[in-house]
Amino acid sequence: MLGVTKEELLASISQLEQAIHNHNEWFEAINRTLLCRLQLDQRELRPDAHRECRFGQWIYQYAGERLREHPAFRTIEKEHQAMHAAVSAMLHNLDECGAVTADRYDRFANAMKRLRLEINSLKEELQNTLYNLDSLTSANNRIGMLTHLREQRELSRRNNQTFSIVMLDLDHFKMINDRCGHQTGDQVLKTISHYILDNIRPYDRLYRYGGEEFLLSMPQTALDTATAVAERLREGITQLSFGRCNDEPVRITVSFGVAELPPEGDVDVLIQHADKALYNAKHRGRNMVCPWDASESQD
Ligand code: GH3
Ligand code: MG
Ligand code: MG
Repeated sequence: MLGVTKEELLASISQLEQAIHNHNEWFEAINRTLLCRLQLDQRELRPDAHRECRFGQWIYQYAGERLREHPAFRTIEKEHQAMHAAVSAMLHNLDECGAVTADRYDRFANAMKRLRLEINSLKEELQNTLYNLDSLTSANNRIGMLTHLREQRELSRRNNQTFSIVMLDLDHFKMINDRCGHQTGDQVLKTISHYILDNIRPYDRLYRYGGEEFLLSMPQTALDTATAVAERLREGITQLSFGRCNDEPVRITVSFGVAELPPEGDVDVLIQHADKALYNAKHRGRNMVCPWDASESQD
């Protein structure tokens, strides 16, 4: 969920919780019917029962766009439909024979387990995303950054793939705060971060590394490609509009340092290299992309 905001996440989690509550109530009603041998609700036997229950109404009518985009949503829809098919088969069985066979019941219970696993996994993922989100910029905060980078390092090693990171830092950002105020500064940070999030691949990750400094993780990307992506982002940022301050348009540029995971290097070396490259970009005049160059290294 690249670029998702804290508010969107909170709304999605609360929607999902309400849907889970409705689903649990439906389940209790089914249990009550079975155990107390009550009159069957004929709607449960209809082929579109999965659209009629309150959970189904949420899936087919009310669920928000953000949740619909998530790949797990489609799986939940399928598992929910399968579960209703299993319920319908079980209730037909009850209607015809006065009892439910163990096989029919087990199929229903398994379908229910699969559905609940999917729903709970999605909820957990949304909660994790929220926990790892920087609320101002919608980038990831630093909490899971090192773990993610180490995982990517392992994966790259194992699969013999490249892995690059980009460190970026806003140029003379203190001046924006001083001249235009902290609120404008916040807005600039947010606009730049959203621009980057909108222009990277779904498996790239943007972390807010510090105040006005970000780290972009790019799996399966070699140094030259990562440098080209950074150059495109740099150029794109120069075209963004940040409103006006003291009757002049607010202008901001960004410096980038790029590094690729060295064959034997660890994550701390990778970060050091990107940091050194960023230092070079600042030193050479800012608003530029510098790839790490081993021959220039002083260490
Ligand atoms: P350089 O080009 O060398 O990077 O210069 P700079 O002014 O960007 O760097 P410096 O480290 O001197 O200042 C960074 C500024 O970023 C200072 C700090 O107040 C500001 N900053 C950090 N986090 C935030 C934030 O969340 N909101 C706002 N508005 N400003 C922030
Ligand atoms: Mg700066
Ligand atoms: Mg800085």
